[in-house]
Amino acid sequence: MSEKKRSTIILFIIWLLIVPPGIIYFLITQMPENVNIMYVALFILFSVLTALYPIMYNGKPVTLVMWAALPAFLMYGIAVEIIVMQLSIVATLYATKSNLGTFERFLINSIMVFILSIVAAGGFFVVGGQIGSLDFWPLLIGVAIYRIFHTTANFGFLTAYLKAKGVKSPFTSKDIGFEYATLILILPLALTFYFLLNMVGIASFLLLGFPFFMTITIIRLYGRSEKINDYIKRAGKIGSELSVMTDEETVSTQFITKTSELFKADYVFLFTNHDQWLELDKWYEKKQFVEKPYRAIQIGEGIAGMVLEKNEPIIYSKRKDWQRYATNSAPEDLESILCIPLSRNNKTNGILLLGSTRKSAFGDYQLEIFDLLGSYYIVALEKARYVHEALQRSERCALTKLYNYRYLEEKIHFEMNRMQMGDIDNLSLIMLDIDHFKKVNDTYGHQSGNDVLYGLGRILEKALPDYGTLGRYGGEEFVFLLPDFSKEEAIDFAEQIRLMVREHAFTIIPDLGEDKYPVKVFITLSVGVANAPTDTDEAMNLLRNADRALYIGAKQAGRDRVAEYVR
Ligand code: GH3
Ligand code: MG
Ligand code: MG
Repeated sequence: MSEKKRSTIILFIIWLLIVPPGIIYFLITQMPENVNIMYVALFILFSVLTALYPIMYNGKPVTLVMWAALPAFLMYGIAVEIIVMQLSIVATLYATKSNLGTFERFLINSIMVFILSIVAAGGFFVVGGQIGSLDFWPLLIGVAIYRIFHTTANFGFLTAYLKAKGVKSPFTSKDIGFEYATLILILPLALTFYFLLNMVGIASFLLLGFPFFMTITIIRLYGRSEKINDYIKRAGKIGSELSVMTDEETVSTQFITKTSELFKADYVFLFTNHDQWLELDKWYEKKQFVEKPYRAIQIGEGIAGMVLEKNEPIIYSKRKDWQRYATNSAPEDLESILCIPLSRNNKTNGILLLGSTRKSAFGDYQLEIFDLLGSYYIVALEKARYVHEALQRSERCALTKLYNYRYLEEKIHFEMNRMQMGDIDNLSLIMLDIDHFKKVNDTYGHQSGNDVLYGLGRILEKALPDYGTLGRYGGEEFVFLLPDFSKEEAIDFAEQIRLMVREHAFTIIPDLGEDKYPVKVFITLSVGVANAPTDTDEAMNLLRNADRALYIGAKQAGRDRVAEYVR
């Protein structure tokens, strides 16, 4: 048996020994003779309703139940009060869901409130309070003491309990002060209720019930709009943070972590839409990204597939509601779900699913805000992609996709600098030029020439050693920049490249003439090699030296060869 299970059972036994016998005892000994069952039922109804629609202060529910429990106590004594309070605990637990085991929470609260009822009633009697009395001042004092004892003992118990569990108390002194301050509201209300009941009878439930619950509703609506405002503010902040990011991956991961934080979600799943099927791209579980095997989801399959098909957001508050649609990879503890399509310009880029292990974790307005955040995300992603492409364009050659001369020259300076700082000992540069390339163009057409250049780019790329840089320096000239390559190593490498390329058959489809059949084309390379510090220690000289070696040593000496720079 697990530790947790055992402690729940012990708690249950303690509860069994205290609460039910206690209630029976008070029912037998403290019950007045003529009890109006209708009144008791209405007291219970009012308390339960008050508990079901709590007013939140600082994220915690404010105890207002007493406005109905206190008149019940004043009329019928402790037995009825205990029953009213115990039932409103169940309602409170229902209204304020928590991850803690509900049963365990009920047991603790039930025992605690049972003891509180006795302590508070004791205080009432000690200062001379009397059940059923209509003597105003002694009643007021008794009721005030009752409430103060109740609140004080409540915080005392809570503090002791949290301390025993080693949890930091979530209550600030402001919360505690607020709780005492509700005395000003509860006492007059409860006393008015009690006196009115004695004067006009059952109609008092209507006379006071209406204004009370109306006021609660208005306060709750106001609280809700405050909460929505707060959400919108935080969503806006996330949006503006995303908008300055220039890397798609960072945009995605930041969006997911921030969204899960904002909505207190335990799961976030991001799916990419590949034209009518989905790929699960990111799996974020309890504050961590989890690697999951590749998975394709058909349109209509699972909840994400359903949202893709209907192109409409979906919200579920518990597992029972969605289980029959889910795929078998849905986590076992998942309850609430919020799922939206990520659309822009009538195109669905993906699906986003938020999940919580709590029931009813998400409301309608969260869906709206989630939707808003989704569009921030799509725009930020698009912008990051655009920036990335623009950067690529400025650094890369459009035909071969290799680095361009601008990037190469910067990189040569950078590597040379590293050598001067002692990070590397050697820097070699290899420049190569296709022999008689004009002939390829003249024979097969310019487009076919381009195809050969592209093909050569792929071959050279494959041969590129780690930490090396490869670029297209000019028309049919390419450069390898090789840190930590001695001159001899670079010459060897260049020779390998030369042999490899001259063996390679480039397949092209000629774009000149009638024949459009594939043709095999062979090319040879002339190559120049220079090294720092052997030949120079200046960046641009290294380039010039390789160029010299290429033209004088290789081209002029008959082409299809490797030449090293000689002074
Ligand atoms: P060699 O280097 O052996 O002296 O002869 P070559 O014919 O290769 O030399 P040259 O430098 O005279 O000519 C280079 C040719 O490369 C000129 C041009 O037609 C071709 N060329 C340069 N850039 C491109 C390009 O982007 N696409 C195509 N198709 N051809 C290009
Ligand atoms: Mg050439
Ligand atoms: Mg050339």
